[in-house]
Amino acid sequence: MIEVRELTKRYGGTVAVDGLSFEVRPGTVTGFLGPNGAGKSTTMRVLLGLAAASSGEALVNGGRYAALRRPIREVGALLDAGAVHGGRKAFDHLGWIARSNGIGSRRVAEVLERVGLAGVARKRVGGFSLGMRQRLGIAAALLGDPGVLMFDEPVNGLDPDGVRWIRELMRALAAEGRTVLISSHLMSEMELTADRLVVIGRGRLIADTTVRELAARF
Ligand code: ADP
Ligand code: ADP
Repeated sequence: MIEVRELTKRYGGTVAVDGLSFEVRPGTVTGFLGPNGAGKSTTMRVLLGLAAASSGEALVNGGRYAALRRPIREVGALLDAGAVHGGRKAFDHLGWIARSNGIGSRRVAEVLERVGLAGVARKRVGGFSLGMRQRLGIAAALLGDPGVLMFDEPVNGLDPDGVRWIRELMRALAAEGRTVLISSHLMSEMELTADRLVVIGRGRLIADTTVRELAARF
């Protein structure tokens, strides 16, 4: 489960996140929706211990990221899919992450299969399209079989088949009982993917609702 309580994050004079509160429950996909610059990535970065909160709290499974006993087993994330070292082969990239976390190579093969990259496991990441990099980043997030998953704009750079694939994967992960938070700046991407929507603008909560409730207003 994810709990964000009165979270504020400032970068100098910029308030990236401004008193934001919301929860994401197990077994659901929550769409984290807002225009570019709204504070979605920053919120995820604080949840993942990559940025410190200015005030408030961002908790995963009841604790701060830094306090999790086995982080990779509890939470997985896709943040910046472009940022993979291109010289490595897909299998070796994941193998390195797995090894440094005590995860066996059989699991690497499993996650590559799950994201549809088994056929290019021995190819260098440098030749991958953005969509393939997104899949590789998702595979990395799944390595530790975590109950909590965060994906920052995973649909960026995907063709319609890729978008459909992401939607089905998100639904499957929730059906497995996982807690899924997925960000997007496009409402149209979220309506078939998410159960709930947390909509933010300028770091503040605009709406926290179910997709069904929102659809009923149109
Ligand atoms: P989103 O993910 O919704 O596009 P971000 O969380 O990336 O939004 O950004 C929220 C605001 O915080 C923006 O105004 C952005 O410029 C600012 N911001 C994000 N990261 C930093 C940083 N490391 N230093 C300074 N400002 C930042
Ligand atoms: P520490 O927590 O050891 O003081 P950090 O660099 O992790 O050091 O955090 C710096 C500050 O940001 C601390 O004052 C801490 O309270 C706060 N902080 C970090 N992560 C979180 C979080 N997930 N929720 C709330 N506050 C946080």
